[in-house]
Amino acid sequence: CGIFGVYAPGKDVARLVYYGLFALQHRGQESAGIAVSDGHHIAVHKGMGLVAEVFNQDNLRALKGNIAIGHVRYSTTGASSLVNAQPLVFRYLKGMLAIAHNGNLTNAGPLRQELGARGSIFQSSTDSEVIVNLIARYSQESIEEALLRCQNDLEGAYSLVVMTDDRLIGVRDPFGVRPLCLGKMGEAWVLASESCALDTIGAEFCRDVEPGEILIIDGGGVRSLKGRRASHSAHCIFEHVYFARPDSVLDGRAVNLVRREMGRILAREYRVAADIVIPVPDSGTAAAAGYAEAAGLPFVEGLMKNRYVGRTFIQPTQEMRDLGVRLKLNPIKSILKDKRVIIIDDSIVRGTTSRRIVAMLRQAGVREVHLMSASPPVLYPCYYGIDTSARGELIAAQYSLEDIRRYIGADSLYYLSLEGLFQSVGGNGENFCAACFSGDYPIPIPPPEEATKYS
Ligand code: 5GP
Ligand code: SF4
Ligand code: MG
Repeated sequence: CGIFGVYAPGKDVARLVYYGLFALQHRGQESAGIAVSDGHHIAVHKGMGLVAEVFNQDNLRALKGNIAIGHVRYSTTGASSLVNAQPLVFRYLKGMLAIAHNGNLTNAGPLRQELGARGSIFQSSTDSEVIVNLIARYSQESIEEALLRCQNDLEGAYSLVVMTDDRLIGVRDPFGVRPLCLGKMGEAWVLASESCALDTIGAEFCRDVEPGEILIIDGGGVRSLKGRRASHSAHCIFEHVYFARPDSVLDGRAVNLVRREMGRILAREYRVAADIVIPVPDSGTAAAAGYAEAAGLPFVEGLMKNRYVGRTFIQPTQEMRDLGVRLKLNPIKSILKDKRVIIIDDSIVRGTTSRRIVAMLRQAGVREVHLMSASPPVLYPCYYGIDTSARGELIAAQYSLEDIRRYIGADSLYYLSLEGLFQSVGGNGENFCAACFSGDYPIPIPPPEEATKYS
């Protein structure tokens, strides 16, 4: 998911959040929502679909106030419906409160049990609603104190933007799994999942919110509370591999540079005789550029991507596919014919994309096709907020390298090593989670029957 918040007296905050969410659209396409406080009341609009589908001039104009938060939801295993859309807005002892969550709690099940036994009721199947109920449980305390107490109960990944009628608050979990940063624009303060969203609205990047930190933004400026912090961080390395936008800087690392470095290291680890290097657009582009540079081979865009194929597009039927209707990618034959091609993608999850692309390249007349993944084999599910349903069939978890190569139809297949991946972020992987590649989970994972219930 993507989260965004603005504290901006005198500004059209709803529109700023709209632009911010637009820049974070890659983090979630299932639903979008904006909540605005005018100092007394919190109004919200949310709906299913893309930011541009959910909002228009009229419903944006109706969201008046000085503080706003927004959310774009990424489909995890929880049901895809409007009750699960965020921000969640509720009334509690102290007034109104809105919250937007990125990440996934690992103890949502037991917390729901416990809260339910004490009389809490739930509307949605999201883990995020557990946080709302916990805040309500501590409502005798100030919101700062309530959030500090919540941190002691919550386990797992959570970056939050919280809004009361007169305050904007940012919270990061003790491991800093999901990103969150702070920006400034004149007198206004901004919180965003990724720095690209600050750039989009013309805000200046101040700093990342620290793991465990709670930032309170109000008329008095920004105050930092040091909350619960783990002995080391566990930033999601997959944000660098695939999820984040390449123009973002996460916890001090420019995503685009990390991806180029993955490609360079890949070139150190694995070389084959080839004429050109091409990316799978757009996710493999930076890594392919890094590989080509390090290997001294031409970087060529051999596949054309249609930018307008969205989720809402009518998907082709099998018959259309058999006819060769290529909506999303088209190989450029004049470039590819008779060439020995290295093709690079950021990751191979189920292998279906790669298989289709390799077949396409062969039809375009390539002589050889060598497929490389700029990350190691994805072997384990993520419990910290990256779509696990998309990884229900992790090809590398079931088949040998040679079986996968044969299935995909490539002349050779190579994955970046885990050490190489760690080098690309600069180090030995300390302060990163790489569990989907290594199986080394930094935060205890829920038992199997609980794992996919609430997300
Ligand atoms: P696959 O091997 O599953 O057919 O496809 C791999 C492709 O999916 C890669 O190009 C990669 O960019 C993309 N990908 C990797 N992880 C995810 C994810 O969590 N969600 C989606 N939608 N795409 C992903
Ligand atoms: Fe990120 Fe993978 Fe860790 Fe999930 S398991 S937080 S996707 S590195
Ligand atoms: Mg891709």
